[in-house]
Order: sequence, then structure tokens, then C-alpha cells
Amino acid sequence: MPAPLPPDTIVYAHGDFRPLAQASYALEERGVLFADGVYEVVRYDRGKPFALKPHADRLANSLDGIDLPGLDADEVADLSNELVKRAGHDHCKVYWQVTRGDLGPRDFLIQTPTDFKPNLTLIAYPTPPLQRDATALPPSGGAIIVEDCRWTKCWIKSLMLQPASLAKTAAHKAGAVEAIFEREKPGTTESHITEGSSTNVFIVRDGQLLTHPNDGWVLPGITRDVLLDAAQNELGLPFAEQTFTAADLKAADEVFVCSTTQLTAITSVHGQPIGDGQPGPITTAVNKAYTERILAD
Ligand code: PMP
Repeated sequence: MPAPLPPDTIVYAHGDFRPLAQASYALEERGVLFADGVYEVVRYDRGKPFALKPHADRLANSLDGIDLPGLDADEVADLSNELVKRAGHDHCKVYWQVTRGDLGPRDFLIQTPTDFKPNLTLIAYPTPPLQRDATALPPSGGAIIVEDCRWTKCWIKSLMLQPASLAKTAAHKAGAVEAIFEREKPGTTESHITEGSSTNVFIVRDGQLLTHPNDGWVLPGITRDVLLDAAQNELGLPFAEQTFTAADLKAADEVFVCSTTQLTAITSVHGQPIGDGQPGPITTAVNKAYTERILAD
């Protein structure tokens, strides 16, 4: 288990910067009672944020998606930068969380007071520096495929993470690093791979990258977008945003998953090797392009 943050860690909570020990949640906070909130995770390398604006824009979309007013996402981005400066971190992930706060006794009905202010929390978690050798093989591991039992608005980066957390835990119990969701969408007769419990999924088939379209059934991943842009503009790799099945995934030449934290080569699924069971050349090239983007930013 990761070590807890020291109590004097500077966080943003209750409208200002303060030590962690002086921040707490009300028992009737709607984030706790109803998972009524949304979040972002932004990576910082050498004290600088990566893809800050896309994260702020996605936060604004998520806030709209749950009808949570009263917060300017660009101001959250500024506060995040300020937190990293005050904390003095070179390398960290900053967790942004916006919840509807304490609106009194537990009630399904949302009644927003006129002077409403959402509850914004920012926590910076130190991370190891990025592996600077861009030619290094990406981290790798196995995956399992599980039913995607989440809601239908996966484009919202919601705090309702229980299905994802249970799936990730099942993967770890099986000796794998990620659980990949599979779902039969309404109106279809076939299940498709959507995304990972905390990642977007790519397969490589005949030299082409495939990933699920941004049609609401997956989170529009910031890393996903960066990789598609790199595929198009740097690597000259053909790609398609198109659905694929579990059978396609198992038969793929290469599989990888990606998130703000890292790109991970998936080298087996339920213990069956993907390709030759090693991170493949396209996965390695994409990881190199991603690393270089972060280092160049
Ligand atoms: N899909 C899901 C379900 C996620 O939770 C995440 C990361 N939080 C991602 C995809 C990857 O998104 P990003 O690249 O923006 O970190």
C-alpha cells in the first residue's frame, strides 16, 4: 500500500491552501452520500502540467453533465498550478475533485441554494520522474475482460467508481494489471470492448491502431487523444476509432492501455499471450512518442 500523505502536506480545500490535517469532509457531503461529483487527474513533469487545458475543458463538460454550477474550470487549473508551486513538487499527479457539498439532510432531490458553491478539493501526489529513456519498453502486464456494468454516461468523469474499483481489484487478484470492460450496448447484438477500468484500450491489427470511438460509452481520455494525434502527425500510423470485440482483442498483434499515469503494454489476456507475449514495436513507438510529448511540453 502507498504510504499516507504526511499531515502537513499542502492541499486545496475549503476555499484555500492548507495542511491536509486541517481539511475534512462533512458527514452529509453529497460526494460521500451519492458520489455526487466529478474529478480529473493531471500529471506534472518538472513542475509543469501536461495537457492542462484539455483537462480543464473535460472538467467543464463533466460539471455540465451532472448539472453542477458555480465553478470555472480554468480557475481550477490555475489553483492546481499554484498548489504544485506551493508544494514544491517536480513530479506529481494532481487530483481535482468537485462535489456538490453538504446540502443538509440526505435527500435524493437536489435543491441548489442561490449562494451555492461546490466543494473543490485538490491533492498533489508525488510521482517518480518519467522514465526519460524514450526508447525504453513500456511497463507491461496481463489483463482480464469483465462485464462493463457502469452507467451509460461514461463520458462524464464521475466519482461513481465502484464498478471500476471492483474490476481493477479482480484483475489484481488474477495477477493482471488491468480489467478491460466488455459491454453489449442497447440495440446491438454483439458485445464490444469499451475501455479499461481506468484506461482507454488500443489494439494493433495489421499495422493499424484501433480504439473505441468517443461516443459516450468511454471516457474521452486525454492520453487517448494525444496518442491519436501522435499516430497521425508524427508516426504516420493508420488508425480508426472503431469498435472491436473481445475475440478481436485476443487475436490482436498488440494491445495497450493508456491513461494520464502511463501507457501499459498488455501482453496477455486471461493468461493467453497477445502476439509473442512481449510489448510490441508499435506499442513501444507510441510510448516513445508519448514520452517525448511530455518531455517537450
Ligand atoms: N477511461 C477511464 C474509465 C478512466 O478512468 C481513465 C483515467 N481516469 C481513462 C480512460 C484515461 O483518461 P486520461 O488519459 O484522461 O487519464
